Amino acid sequence: MDNKELEVKVAPHYFNTVAHDQLDQTHRGAVSMPIYQTSIFAFNTYDDFQMAMQDEQNNHIYSRGNNPTVRFLEDKLAKLEGGERAKCFASGMAAISSALHVLVSSGDHIICVDQAYGPARMFMEQLRDRFQIELTFVSGVHVSEFEEAIQPNTKLIYLESPSSVFFQLQDLPEIAKLAKQHGIVTIIDNSWASSCFQQPLSMGIDLVVHSLSKYVSGHSDCLGGVLIGSMKLMDNIMNNGYQLLGGLMTPHVASLMLRGLRTLPLRMQYHHKTGLQMAKYMETQSYVSKVNHPGLPTHPQHELAKKLFSGYGSLFTFESPYSLETMRRWASELKYFRIAVSWGGYESLVTVHPVPGKTLANGEPLAGVRLFIGMEDPEALKQDMEQAWNKIAITL
Ligand SMILES: *Cc1c(COP(=O)(O)O)cnc(C)c1O
Repeated sequence: MDNKELEVKVAPHYFNTVAHDQLDQTHRGAVSMPIYQTSIFAFNTYDDFQMAMQDEQNNHIYSRGNNPTVRFLEDKLAKLEGGERAKCFASGMAAISSALHVLVSSGDHIICVDQAYGPARMFMEQLRDRFQIELTFVSGVHVSEFEEAIQPNTKLIYLESPSSVFFQLQDLPEIAKLAKQHGIVTIIDNSWASSCFQQPLSMGIDLVVHSLSKYVSGHSDCLGGVLIGSMKLMDNIMNNGYQLLGGLMTPHVASLMLRGLRTLPLRMQYHHKTGLQMAKYMETQSYVSKVNHPGLPTHPQHELAKKLFSGYGSLFTFESPYSLETMRRWASELKYFRIAVSWGGYESLVTVHPVPGKTLANGEPLAGVRLFIGMEDPEALKQDMEQAWNKIAITL
């Protein structure tokens, strides 16, 4: 892999948006957005109150609707994603479930990529089982799968590119074109690449969701989610999914997210580079049979990856010819990699899981390992892998 592939450029406007705020004098020269720790906002006259009530999303009445600190983050996230309006939620799942709650009704049909984030998938299965919503899973690798799955009642296409587990990609511009022809709304989980490296709205996708708990927070200390899209779609989501389900982001969390955002492009450049280096390294290891990372030339959709992404996230998986138990022992021996769920913080992480639909020759489930490459030095991480394997290998 040449150095050119490791160095990525983030668009200058991106840096400017995270670094440069123009807070007006109502904030007394504060250079970072104050935390408006208040649930309600009071009015001087009843006329003012009634005027504000006519447009709750753009006035401050109650913090379940619109809070200045949260709104400041929302406007920044919308700008970074190239969307008209963003709404922040208590978690990625609050954003996903609110969007689904608003966008589909009984009798509608959803097409979803089969390796979508587990809880998102589970929520859709519950909609199917409890509210008579039809659901079709597709691998998403070929646009024709979507074409074949479309029914007259198809309302929504749910994407996640790359998908969890195998890191398969979807051809976003082609799927968006197809969906538009049929009047179907498209939504994508863009958490992995972040708005730094993939801009789905510019490719024709209608709505973007992020788990802000990952790269945007960046410090494994808070949870949040965001939905971004056109004013029309977002109005409906704000007035219904947000206001009525009530999964709001608090001003304190918004402030932590704003702090995380300041360094997002810098961190993403580092994650891109070290993630690729580590993925490449894993391909050379005896206990690895396959690495799933879209930035590797061995990834079956690498050419599409180069079209969709301007850089890569540092979460990837590999498959091993050794048993689940062996790989779990290996994970336990790692010093830098912590055993934990989630990802996107400063610390490298590892989990070991059975690979869906794949078995070893003896019928045992195939071991899959998910690695998140944090902010450590990649050489130290490689040494960590090596010492852990050496400890395990002598017992095999
Ligand atoms: C973590 C995650 C989510 C859910 O986000 P929470 O903030 O944990 O609710 C959704 N999608 C992906 C890809 C994730 O990794």
